Amino acid sequence: MSIPANKVAPVVVAIDGPAGSGKSSVSRAAARALDFGYLDTGAAYRAFAWSLLERGIDLEHPENAVAGLDDFPYAIGTDPDHFFVRVGETDVTEAIREPRVTDVVRHIAKLPEVRQGLTALFRILIAGTQKAGIVVEGRDITTVVAPDAEVRILLTASEEARMGRRSKELSDHSAAVVGEQLRSRDQADSRVVDFMNAADGVLTLDSTELDFDETVTAVVDVVRNQTARISHG
Ligand code: C5P
Repeated sequence: MSIPANKVAPVVVAIDGPAGSGKSSVSRAAARALDFGYLDTGAAYRAFAWSLLERGIDLEHPENAVAGLDDFPYAIGTDPDHFFVRVGETDVTEAIREPRVTDVVRHIAKLPEVRQGLTALFRILIAGTQKAGIVVEGRDITTVVAPDAEVRILLTASEEARMGRRSKELSDHSAAVVGEQLRSRDQADSRVVDFMNAADGVLTLDSTELDFDETVTAVVDVVRNQTARISHG
């Protein structure tokens, strides 16, 4: 993707956090409010896992899968109003949320080659955004993908609040099952990157006591304050 030489670099808002912190929906709504682009990096990890499942590759021994990254025909929308994920010609926006994908994505997310490949892709998408800024969310955005982002936020919530929110989304699962799934996914993921503790310079936003709209407002306020401070020196 070529970037016009006169294009001003977009404001990058990096948001990390554990599963169930609401970061995807909050990031997307904040992007909409700011008229920024939106990049869901978890969707890329999920789409890669989905494509390997489709090809029948055993993800518990995914070393052979790394080669698949070279020709991973992946496309993701960065417009918060028209979000889509495609692998080749197939729209996988919904399919990548299925439990069979959630259950295996950790096996590929721990491979350094996969992380490096996807990180390179994310940086191209960030630089290529046509909007004034982009909200990028995941696990390692504040530390690895965009450590120089103007705004870096760790979005947290108590384990209880995260479980409560997630079990409302998945009404057919009991709170105990959801809790166990969240805990085991966070444990596996945090062995790869530490997204439970804010790195230096990263602001922690605890949404335990906030509802959805209040959390979005808090993020938008941080972005506005931070970017005003930067532009006014
Ligand atoms: O955010 P989401 O739950 O969709 O992410 C799915 C999985 O992708 C995570 O559980 C994690 O294993 C992986 N991931 C990652 N780094 C990111 C985003 C997601 O390792 N930046």
